[in-house]
Amino acid sequence: MTRRRFSVNKSSITYFTWCFLFLSNSLARAVLCGMLQSPTTAFFFPLRPAVLRGRTVVVSSLTRHQRLHSFATMNCGTVGENLARVRHRVKEVAKGLEPPPRLVAVSKTKPVAALKEAYDAGQRHFGENYSHEVLEKAPELPDDVKWHFIGHLQSNKAKALVEQVPNLWMVEAVDSIKLADRLQAATAGVLETRRKGERLKILVQIDTSGEATKSGKRTEDAAVIAQHVTAQCPALQFAGVMTIGASGDMTCFDKLVDAREAIARATGLDAASLELSMGMSNDFEEAIARGSTNIRVGSTIFGARQYRSKEEPPVAEYNEGESKSK
Ligand SMILES: *Cc1c(COP(=O)(O)O)cnc(C)c1O
Repeated sequence: MTRRRFSVNKSSITYFTWCFLFLSNSLARAVLCGMLQSPTTAFFFPLRPAVLRGRTVVVSSLTRHQRLHSFATMNCGTVGENLARVRHRVKEVAKGLEPPPRLVAVSKTKPVAALKEAYDAGQRHFGENYSHEVLEKAPELPDDVKWHFIGHLQSNKAKALVEQVPNLWMVEAVDSIKLADRLQAATAGVLETRRKGERLKILVQIDTSGEATKSGKRTEDAAVIAQHVTAQCPALQFAGVMTIGASGDMTCFDKLVDAREAIARATGLDAASLELSMGMSNDFEEAIARGSTNIRVGSTIFGARQYRSKEEPPVAEYNEGESKSK
């Protein structure tokens, strides 16, 4: 107890731990940004405690997919650079596919400036989950943007959305006949004001994961909605199926392919003419390999999303609750 040359007390452990975390974190970022070809931002990341916590404490509880996803979504590069990288990756997997899969930039929670940056880099298809966000952003961007509504749309919001956003191009997550009817009524009233008098494209959302938290219909119920849209909704065009799926479970994509077949048979449409909207930041390459025609990529383009309150979920299912409408 008299030799105090190397005293290991609590505060020095804390000090060394923090130094270690700081250095390893910086190194990881530098390597990662180097890999992602964005050396400019390598050393200038704001150090966020949440990121530190994510790396050191929660990391082992994440799946490999989620880990890759969280790496991929660190704020490396500008929106334009990120977009270029995503396009490059799409091109690599989609070799020879004609037409190539459509890239929808999912811009929910992101400011108009970020969308404009993507627009200036040539992006035209944008996806949003909340009607109030589309209503705010649409007038701020040029008319040739094609808006995709990818969240759960409350049927009482359909009218305002259709009437105030003439360049609403596709509603991807239709899950009830009631919503289809509201969209039909609203679109019929404004059809001439839409670009080239185009009908509003409709995808029906399929539940391929069986997880209670995710919305979507079973294939049989989706087929009924698809038949209804095809036969009863002349202002709408039934254009295919969409799913979120379970993170890391690629069988969800195969299930969506099967659902498309079944719905094509039920509606008498050609399966090849129907869209498969599947694939997000962490799995769009796998989705394209399985036939996706429409990938929805958010955080890899715009960076991780920050939510205002703890209530808002951190992953894909930020839906506007139907329960609030009654
Ligand atoms: C948010 C969202 C996306 C994009 O998710 P990322 O993981 O950020 O790419 C895609 N589809 C739906 C339905 C979403 O809600």
